[in-house]
Order: sequence, then C-alpha cells, then structure tokens
Amino acid sequence: MDQLKTTELQSSKPQLIDRFGRHITYVRLSVTDRCDFRCVYCMAEDMTFVPREQLLTLEEMERVGRAFVQLGVHKIRLTGGEPLTRRGVLQLIQGLGSLEGLRDFTVTTNGSQLPRFAVDLKAAGITRLNISLDTLRADRFRQLTRTGHIEQTLAGIEAALAQGFKRIKLNAVILKNRNHDEVLDLVAFARERHIDISFIEEMPLGEIGDHDRAEAYYSSDEILRDLRTRYDLQAVNDQTGGPSRYYKTLDHDSRVGFISPHSHNFCGDCNRVRVTAEGRLLLCLGQEHSVDLRRVLRAHPLSDEPLIATLKEAMQIKPQGHEFQLAEKPILFRHMNATGG
Ligand code: SAM
Ligand code: SF4
Repeated sequence: MDQLKTTELQSSKPQLIDRFGRHITYVRLSVTDRCDFRCVYCMAEDMTFVPREQLLTLEEMERVGRAFVQLGVHKIRLTGGEPLTRRGVLQLIQGLGSLEGLRDFTVTTNGSQLPRFAVDLKAAGITRLNISLDTLRADRFRQLTRTGHIEQTLAGIEAALAQGFKRIKLNAVILKNRNHDEVLDLVAFARERHIDISFIEEMPLGEIGDHDRAEAYYSSDEILRDLRTRYDLQAVNDQTGGPSRYYKTLDHDSRVGFISPHSHNFCGDCNRVRVTAEGRLLLCLGQEHSVDLRRVLRAHPLSDEPLIATLKEAMQIKPQGHEFQLAEKPILFRHMNATGG
C-alpha cells in the first residue's frame, strides 16, 4: 500500500521539462480533425480530412493520455475538430476521466452536440467546458461557421449550464467588421449566465481563403478599450493553466479573458503540448516541431515504456516560441482543426 502511494506521488511530479526549464503539465488532445462547422478563421470551405485509418484509435488516445499523466501532466483538454462528433468519444472520456492524477479534464466544443452529451460529460469527470460562440446573431453565426445553426449552440450552452460544471467559458474569435461590434453584447450574455468569456486574436494557421487576416485583425487592446466603455474591468491574477489573461469587475464573478498571440506573446510560460488526431505530438502551436507517436504506439502495442521515453526525449525539441506574422503567408500549412485549438 505504502509502495503504491509512493509510486503515485512520484508519478504526479512534473517529469516533462524542456530546455528552457518550462514544466509541461497540460496536454491538448485532438480527437478528430473533422467538424460539423466550417468556421471561416479555422477552415477552408473545401477541406480534405485525414483518412480514418490514419487516425489514432480511441484506445491509442487513451494510452497517450495515460502516459502523459504518469509523467506529471495534470490537465487534459480534448479538442479538434469537433471532439464530440467522433464516434465513441464518450468511451475515451470515461477512460481518461478515471486516471489518478488528472486534476483538470476539459473539452473545447462548438456546442452543437452538447444537448445530447452534457449529462454524460459531467458524469464522466469533465470538470470544465469551453464553448465557442463568436456572435449572438443567427445570420452572422451562419456566415462565420458556414454550416452551423445558432439555436444548436445556444441550446448546448443551456444544457451545459443545467449540469453545473465547475466552470464554463465561452471562446470568441473577434474579426474586424465581422463581429467586433458585438464584444459588449457577448460579455453581457456571459455575465447573465455567470460564466467566463475569452476573446481570441485570430492566428494565421493554414490557408482559409475567406478573408485577409491582417485586415481582419482586431487586437485584444481594442476589445478591452471597447469593453471599458461599459465595464470597470480590472486585471486579476487568476491562472487557469492556459494562455488567457483575465479581467473582472468588482461586482460580478464572470471573468473576461484575452488570448493574444500577436499583441501579448504567451510563450514564456508555455506549459503545454498538443497531440493531433493522427498521433503527432506538436511541441508548439506556431511551429512545425513534432514527433510521430502513432509509430511508437503501433510498434509497441503491449508496453508504454517506449512511448514514455519518446515523450521525455521530445521535450528537447520544444521551441522557445511561435513566430506568427499576420502580414505574411501562413507560416504553417496546418489548419487550426488539424492542430487542435
Ligand atoms: N470545434 C471546437 C470549437 O470550435 O470550440 C474545438 C476546436 S476549435 C479549433 C478550438 C478553438 O480554436 C475555438 O475556440 C476556435 O474558435 C479557435 N480557433 C479556430 N481557428 C482559429 C484561428 N485561426 N485563430 C484563433 N483561434 C482559432
Ligand atoms: Fe469546427 Fe471548431 Fe474549427 Fe469551427 S473552430 S470549424 S467548430 S473545429
């Protein structure tokens, strides 16, 4: 018994440390690159997805998650693509949700499948949800997602609220002249529901063919300026283990976050890595450095030791930071849905 406790304690100590002394304790697992939406900043209208046989199986994803937790990772976020559209995803969530040492288990979703999944997600151990919502107007929602219906996502938000998750956060990508005039309304929507909201600067991932990203750039500072016309927002030191910087008003519990890859680089305290649906470990959102975990998983179906060794070695190639430049062609061919946002 004592020995088991010692092993557990050892395994929860961070063991993934990169060349810059950063401890990796947070992993984003992309469950699929497919999605029921085609958001204009994320995908091109016509997308080619990864053939199904090249995807990690759900069992392989669970092995990856387990290995990371053994190495001291205590936060896993499932993302995609739309994670809740992958068949059998609940089985994966239940498996990961029962891992000792996993303290924070979250999903990022467009909300469309939440009416049918919210109850099971809560039961399986999901602690927090991020739900993407860029606009409150049905016509704009259709334009920005190309295929989505706002009623579905709004129903998903209400279904999640009814389950009483520890925290729900909305994510809104703000584009100039598309939805920048809605930031006050979006904050009001979040505050009415006592949930958080983060505003995200668009990142230049993949050719999207919809708009010029430099022209559509609307900075976090501009958003904050707009919000301060109504709300007395003060910076707070809340850390959720992600890249958001948070603000609050004294009279309310809803937080307003900013994810600002252009205007406030967050690489210095990066604590995370990503795994694509094909099992490629991405060491940085904005760089190509990666390691093929699928090959290791399939070469060693019965032992996780080689996988664990590969994860440790990979820390040596985690780059110092991203180099996003809006005015230039995307530096990466990967779209956000393939990266796992
Ligand atoms: N489908 C889910 C969703 O939309 O929440 C999860 C995957 S999506 C890629 C994760 C997050 O990335 C979403 O909040 C989305 O708005 C954001 N995102 C997608 N493309 C982006 C881009 N080019 N720049 C910044 N954020 C982006
Ligand atoms: Fe799908 Fe999310 Fe990308 Fe929109 S942002 S296309 S919902 S993966």
